Amino acid sequence: MRPEILFPLFAPARTLPGIGPRLEKLVERLAGPKVVDLLWHLPSGLIDRRRRPKIAEARDGEIATMEVTVGLHIPPRLKRLPYRVHVSDETGEMQLIFFNARADYLAKTLPEGAQRIVSGRVEFYQGAPQMTHPDHIVGPEELAALPLLEPIYPLTAGLPLKSLQKAIRSALPSLPDLPEWQNGPWLKANGWAGWRVSVQSAHEPQSAADIAPDAAPRARLAYDELLANQLALGLVRARMKKRPGRSIAGDGRLRRKVEEALPFALTDAQARSLSEIEADMKAPHRMLRLLQGDVGSGKTVVALLAMLNAVEAGFQAAMMAPTEILARQHHASLAPLCEAAGVKLALLTGREKGKPREEILGALADGSIDILVGTHALFQEDVAFNALALAVVDEQHRFGVHQRLLLTSKGGPGTDVLVMTATPIPRTLTLTAYGDMDVSKLDEKPPGRKPVDTRALPLDRLDEIVAGLPRALARGAQIYWVCPLVEESDEVDAAAAEERYKHLRSVFGDIVGLVHGRMKPIDKDAVMARFAAGEIKVLVATTVIEVGVNVPSATVMVIEHAERFGLAQLHQLRGRVGRGTGKSSCLLLYQTPLGETAEARIKIMRETEDGFRIAEEDLRLRGAGELLGTRQSGLPAFRIADLETQKELLAAAHDDARMIVERDPELESERGRALRTLLYLFERDEAIRYLRSG
Ligand code: ADP
Ligand code: MG
Repeated sequence: MRPEILFPLFAPARTLPGIGPRLEKLVERLAGPKVVDLLWHLPSGLIDRRRRPKIAEARDGEIATMEVTVGLHIPPRLKRLPYRVHVSDETGEMQLIFFNARADYLAKTLPEGAQRIVSGRVEFYQGAPQMTHPDHIVGPEELAALPLLEPIYPLTAGLPLKSLQKAIRSALPSLPDLPEWQNGPWLKANGWAGWRVSVQSAHEPQSAADIAPDAAPRARLAYDELLANQLALGLVRARMKKRPGRSIAGDGRLRRKVEEALPFALTDAQARSLSEIEADMKAPHRMLRLLQGDVGSGKTVVALLAMLNAVEAGFQAAMMAPTEILARQHHASLAPLCEAAGVKLALLTGREKGKPREEILGALADGSIDILVGTHALFQEDVAFNALALAVVDEQHRFGVHQRLLLTSKGGPGTDVLVMTATPIPRTLTLTAYGDMDVSKLDEKPPGRKPVDTRALPLDRLDEIVAGLPRALARGAQIYWVCPLVEESDEVDAAAAEERYKHLRSVFGDIVGLVHGRMKPIDKDAVMARFAAGEIKVLVATTVIEVGVNVPSATVMVIEHAERFGLAQLHQLRGRVGRGTGKSSCLLLYQTPLGETAEARIKIMRETEDGFRIAEEDLRLRGAGELLGTRQSGLPAFRIADLETQKELLAAAHDDARMIVERDPELESERGRALRTLLYLFERDEAIRYLRSG
């Protein structure tokens, strides 16, 4: 339960002055529905009204606060002309300009002969100073109340800055004094103040430097946010790990058979990852491990050997892929190896229905199936395992965290989990999204891979490229031809691909195939199978081939409108070639003129094939939220922290959280109790439920 001290912060934003029913919705969309959401909505700039020039000293374009005597009012002769009010001081004259003015209002606020303080932007018109719609007009006695420094906030259409300022300003004085959850020495070393003072200072910038992310108050709040994130993940992880898992240690007999059947030896990275996985499985707690490996790094065989470890020990294993094509491909590539080892493998997707499905479910429940490969059909309610010990989730970023947990529930809370991702997630994001997992890395490609020759060409040379294809075909090359994501619509994509398909087919005949997201799964599979068998030489495709598809004999990748793809996507696509022993190439066809970001992306693609570097660059070009699609990936979106500029803070928060979980796993010490408040403050209530006395 949320501590009472936080109640005022979680009150609806509409309880603040300045936010009525009309603005409430805008504020909610902009920042969030609660007072605390507004506190996290930090200024993006500042208006400095401290300059107090005389009229003769005023400079064009500057914000100034000036004391003046009101002179003549000059109402407009025509409605569209402005209302003018002459003002003066001992050094000169100026005009105040009002469009669509209400004369009675101006007569009241600017009575002739009165002293007034006006603040706003001075502009020179035909050599004379004027101020259009001053931001503030007050009497000299009200000067003290005039905000000389005003924070500027990111806004949304229809929400006036003044209303937002007023609401936030009014929330600041009554902020509760929260118990300090940060370490004293750490605060001191950074020169950070307590939470309340930091929030206040963050909203009361005194100079442009105070708007920067490294300004002390902002850095402190960012660190609070990162620590809440890391601590929550750390607590969940500690709890999951403590779940008594099974100790699984097979005798190696099946693994030996499969390794003998493999046409290659494991790379060092594969062997290392496998032994890390085996050590986790053997330990009496549950495994939560991420297997990170660039496209083509050979994750599948690592997963298979891990699953065989479970089977040797008398248990079952499951592997979940994000698409039908991938599930079938995994099944097809595992089948001969499983057969060689005498292991019973089955496939379950949405397409298995009726009697065959019943049979699979029966065999799964009585334990005669050892390894089940499938799509998310695996977590339907009627799917029951006999003794599931290991769940492997492939291409994790396509699944939400929720689904990940659902599958593990099939085997009870102790089921070991191995998540595989081909998207090389930068370290920063791994920490925030998977801080709860251990990581094994396949940072070495299988031997014999040749670099992919990557070139960029303008689209208007398409005919030349088509004319060059016969040469590649004569060499025995197979070609992927990828058409872009035109819109977020399968239908439109399919149309573009269909058109290119017709075009290429008219040139090359029936060695051209087509696969896109609108086709029936069974038809897609048939096309992929014909491509894999070499009957189809040129495969026109949309991004359905992006993830995981493996046809080693394909050596040419053409990507049309490469400028429309993200870096990660381009990298994934290029990863489809360069898998066999032949020399591979990738042609990026782009539409001119090329935008700055697109140009940077293409440049990076030409410079490197290192997925981790590409992911870092992608993060830099796109920002963290967009990288994987925040919602899909279950990545947290930070309100205050900026992962790009505050990586060091994240690393520190990670270490800090780790130490807290080690020393005070139930958050019972004085700092621990304060940290509970921090978790509630950042709405990580879920993590608190993992505490014994939560
Ligand atoms: P990914 O990590 O992208 O899922 P895969 O598991 O599909 O990669 O492997 C890509 C290709 O590399 C497959 O054809 C696989 O048989 C092959 N492969 C895997 N490990 C090795 C190895 N140690 N030596 C040679 N080839 C390997
Ligand atoms: Mg794979």
